Amino acid sequence: MTIDSPPPGLPAASAPPSARTRIRRIPDNARYDAATVHAIIDAALVCHVAFTDPAGVHCIPTACWRMGEHLYVHGSNGSRMLKVLQSEHGAAVTITHLDGLVLARSAFNHSMNYRSLVIYGHFEIVPEPGKSAALAAFLDHLLAGRQAEVRPGNAKELAATTVLRIGLDEAAAKVHAGPPEDDDEDMAWPVWAGVLPLQLSPQAPVRDAACSTAEPEYVRRWTERSFAPPEEPPAG
Ligand SMILES: Cc1cc2nc3c(=O)[nH]c(=O)nc-3n(C[C@H](O)[C@H](O)[C@H](O)COP(=O)(O)OP(=O)(O)OC[C@H]3O[C@@H](n4cnc5c(N)ncnc54)[C@H](O)[C@@H]3O)c2cc1C
Repeated sequence: MTIDSPPPGLPAASAPPSARTRIRRIPDNARYDAATVHAIIDAALVCHVAFTDPAGVHCIPTACWRMGEHLYVHGSNGSRMLKVLQSEHGAAVTITHLDGLVLARSAFNHSMNYRSLVIYGHFEIVPEPGKSAALAAFLDHLLAGRQAEVRPGNAKELAATTVLRIGLDEAAAKVHAGPPEDDDEDMAWPVWAGVLPLQLSPQAPVRDAACSTAEPEYVRRWTERSFAPPEEPPAG
């Protein structure tokens, strides 16, 4: 598999923000611009957070959202991950959107289309009043309009919840899109070649048995929500 074949037609990458974010493997796929970084986070509901503690190296999936130049995560005060992330140790966050399987004529040239992101840095705690605002933004990131309808978090719930954020100043994105790229001598090989697109596909809502409230717009239109990649990658 050559996952890293250069994407056709993408603009040249801007400069990496640090030595460790410089994409060495197929640098033509590198994207360091804020528009690409923001778009990858905004299209994500989940990230993976890597960190170390005395027990070893961990990589934990968790919900995420963006406000300005920070990625946010939240959870119970009792979360091991959230406690460790408040220490002086650094962390790495990744997000991957898998956009398709790229079927080449040779086994070697098979690939994937994707938008991925790696962020390095240190998480910091978000105290009140920013904590409540961040949690409201999280619910609206999941479903625009939901926050205004639900019972707001009370003092006890807020006190039991930790919100952390990490800056986006050390982030690198990698984007691969396009058809298979076969070697000339393989082009006549009699096998189907092309792209099998992939994306999250929202399914019909399932009403709770004890709920008699009318469906709001974001529920009625849930199956129309698109997780497709942007038509044109954001300019670098
Ligand atoms: C869906 C998917 C499937 C993949 N499958 C394979 C596979 O099967 N085999 C394989 O070798 N590679 C695969 N890759 C590419 C892989 O993520 C790495 O980019 C590649 O393996 C090079 O790793 P490296 O540590 O040598 O990168 P380097 O270029 O040395 O990494 C340097 C820095 O670049 C940044 N970086 C590296 N990779 C990424 C990335 N994907 N997204 C954002 N920033 C990045 C990080 O900051 C990293 O520290 C896949 C990527 C995706 C998104």
